[in-house]
Amino acid sequence: MEQDVKSLNQKELEAVLVSLGEKPFRARQIYHWMHVRHASSFDEMTDISKALQEKLKAGCQMPVLRQVTVQRSKLDGTMKYLFALPDGNMVESVRMKYKHGNSVCISSQAGCRMGCRFCASTLDGLARSLTPAEMLDQVYRIQEDIGERVSHVVVMGMGEPLDNYENLIKFLEILTDENGLHISQRNITVSTCGIIPNMRRLAREKLQITLAVSLHAATQEKRRELMPVANKYEIHELVEACREYFANTGRRVTFEYSLVSGVNDGAKDAVQLAGLLKGMNCHVNLIPVNPIRERDYVQSGSRAVVAFKDKLEKYGITVTVRREMGRDIDGACGQLRRRQIL
Ligand code: SAH
Repeated sequence: MEQDVKSLNQKELEAVLVSLGEKPFRARQIYHWMHVRHASSFDEMTDISKALQEKLKAGCQMPVLRQVTVQRSKLDGTMKYLFALPDGNMVESVRMKYKHGNSVCISSQAGCRMGCRFCASTLDGLARSLTPAEMLDQVYRIQEDIGERVSHVVVMGMGEPLDNYENLIKFLEILTDENGLHISQRNITVSTCGIIPNMRRLAREKLQITLAVSLHAATQEKRRELMPVANKYEIHELVEACREYFANTGRRVTFEYSLVSGVNDGAKDAVQLAGLLKGMNCHVNLIPVNPIRERDYVQSGSRAVVAFKDKLEKYGITVTVRREMGRDIDGACGQLRRRQIL
């Protein structure tokens, strides 16, 4: 099979070039073309010889995503992209513009097999995991399209990043590499539904990224109703893994909690949540659940949201309510899919 050279770090790329009988420094040029100039073919690499270009074309590939559609929100300028992967699978990515810069939300898998009840991305199951290059290229294509630098990346789109662990780590390595786009680790967030063994592995990588954990319930019973992954990993163990993550990295964990009217947004839920997170250096991000057409979950009203937030704050927990972006283009949390719905 042709080697995907865009998924390799610079050292690995050097080894490939040496095996092709080339000098190692060629790797630096090719890496720069792929990860800084965002070239879409070997032909664009004008400072390497035609002969080497041909050699690369014969034995290597560098996946580039094809932009199928882009939608722009009339509410807040959020843009949602549908990209085709080289094999025809599709993923969505979202660009949000903030005062502090451009943030891109990328997908880590085509589809998802986690089955969260309120999420559209999982409805058709998992097609496959994305390669590092396919994750990177979502950021690159968007940066090229908008003509502005992307400063923040959140791995919160379609898929479960910790169900694609090795590729995620390689993606993070290349994305933050000073010879690549050089995005600061602190400007990157990885969101997981709570795959505990891989959270522990991630803690040992000692990265300065933010880990976000989708909690959505304060008790094991309620969490199991919303998230099948809770059948495998118990809620107290999950919180314990988050404490370890903080101990290992010094990075405060963010808990995501989608508020569903009448399901998990009552005063009792807030008190239980405060109890669960007691004494922990963390942050809770409340997300009024975004409706998806296949389910009848109802978003909590603004009064319920404020009451929930106040209650948590009374117990000394830091809380923010996520500003919802791109809802008119189904670009908000849990609304991404691997096909276009008309
Ligand atoms: N698989 C990862 C990342 C993708 S989901 C994870 O589970 O964290 C990104 C966030 O959106 C998660 O917190 C997820 O639970 C949340 N989410 C999913 N569907 C949602 C919906 N309909 N409304 C609000 N948030 C939702």
